[in-house]
Amino acid sequence: MSYEIVIGLEVHLQLNTKSKVFCGCSTDFGSEPNTQVCPVCLGFPGSLPVLNRRALELGAKVAIALKCQIAKKIRFDRKNYFYPDLPKDYQISQFNQPLAQRGNIAIILGEKEKNIRVRRVHLEEDTGKLFHQKDSSLIDFNRSGMPLLEIVSEPDISSPEEAYLYLTALKSILEYIDVSDCNMEEGSLRCDANISLRKKGEKELGVKTEIKNMNSFRGVKLALEYEAVRQKDVLEEGGKIRQETRLYNPGKGVTEPMRSKEEAHDYRYFPEPDLAPFDFGEDILKTIEKDMPELPEPKKNRFIKDYGLSNYDAGVIVSDRETADYFERCAKLYKNPKIIANWLMGDILAYMKEKSVHMRDLNLKPERLSGMLKMIDSGAITGKIAKTLLIEMIQTGRGPEDIVKEKGLEQITDADSLEIAIREVISENPKSVEDFKGGKDSAIMFLMGKVMQKTKGRANPNKANEMLRKRLKGDA
Ligand code: ADP
Ligand code: MG
Ligand code: ZN
Repeated sequence: MSYEIVIGLEVHLQLNTKSKVFCGCSTDFGSEPNTQVCPVCLGFPGSLPVLNRRALELGAKVAIALKCQIAKKIRFDRKNYFYPDLPKDYQISQFNQPLAQRGNIAIILGEKEKNIRVRRVHLEEDTGKLFHQKDSSLIDFNRSGMPLLEIVSEPDISSPEEAYLYLTALKSILEYIDVSDCNMEEGSLRCDANISLRKKGEKELGVKTEIKNMNSFRGVKLALEYEAVRQKDVLEEGGKIRQETRLYNPGKGVTEPMRSKEEAHDYRYFPEPDLAPFDFGEDILKTIEKDMPELPEPKKNRFIKDYGLSNYDAGVIVSDRETADYFERCAKLYKNPKIIANWLMGDILAYMKEKSVHMRDLNLKPERLSGMLKMIDSGAITGKIAKTLLIEMIQTGRGPEDIVKEKGLEQITDADSLEIAIREVISENPKSVEDFKGGKDSAIMFLMGKVMQKTKGRANPNKANEMLRKRLKGDA
């Protein structure tokens, strides 16, 4: 019997406002505990919240970028519950009428695209942070009252891999519009993952569990992979899935039960009396739309149209705004955009991944990359040498001509120099020469490799190949 995986994600995003959502306290990260607090965010009786306009604007910016419908009226609700990190005993949130609803996030699956629907986006305040010690707990209220945006997906995600892609696509959009640091380690982006299984073809959703405590996108994927297998095992043994919240344990790579939903509280939501509902004015919307940058999706379509990139290549390049900008700056200097894309997605991206750095850290001016590409085209250097040259440029911040001159990396095309290398290779590898003469054509690949090695990658490959063949056939 085979099952189908159903996943829905709830993302909490800390908006990068200067001050908290209902008071004037600073939102700086990493300050001494309890230094960024006031009567409002400490929940003192008689203190009153005042909505931070910027938080609302940033929330609406996200809503527009996710193609949501924005509410005409802004309302807040109280979500009542007791917990030591919540001094008021209620959280100001949005319940029945969230800031925005019914959006979309496109994820790329190979050359195909899939739309994941966004159910709702709402604004709320964060809680304080508890630090549990051996016999006591400490509390820091600096986080209390930080502006949070909750982004909830429909259960349209069908695998842990898709969940990963959804988060990556969402993060890319959020970085484009510059509303949050999106840093999972620092907690400015948090994700709860809901997952259930159902028999293939069935319409009803199965009983879900909710997983918390992942601190990277990869962690979310791993937790979901584990949980999918766990649920499948339970179902196949004829058991039932308990609706519960589970914690991911990254050390063990497993999910463990935290609390069951039967104990779930009734939050007694009711309209927040201290913040009167108000109309979401057209003027706010206009301001936001005006400073909206070109988003990844339209940018991708433009790159396909203007530069002739494939859907996949364009998707990879636009997923990071800096890389997309870099690509366009290079495209102004060098006429073959496909070649730029290949270098970006190949050696450059690999380098950034390996060193965990961003485009901006590379010290690789567009003039330098395009200069190098022109040197390949003119035959000044080989494509093989360019790979080493690129890394050298990135690490030293120097231009390609300089490095080539200093290190003597020019391509070798003159017949005499090639001849010397070829003759040596032939005399040093009699076995391969025999093989070739005996009809094993592939032996020439090996010999060419040796020629390249001898010339440190500088031999003009076409010319060297031609000369090598001639010599082996005895007519040189
Ligand atoms: P809860 O009340 O437990 O928070 P919601 O209905 O509000 O549940 O949904 C929270 C998230 O869980 C949403 O992202 C939604 O898409 C997802 N979800 C809801 N039901 C299921 C299910 N049966 N399987 C997987 N995901 C689900
Ligand atoms: Mg939930
Ligand atoms: Zn405050």
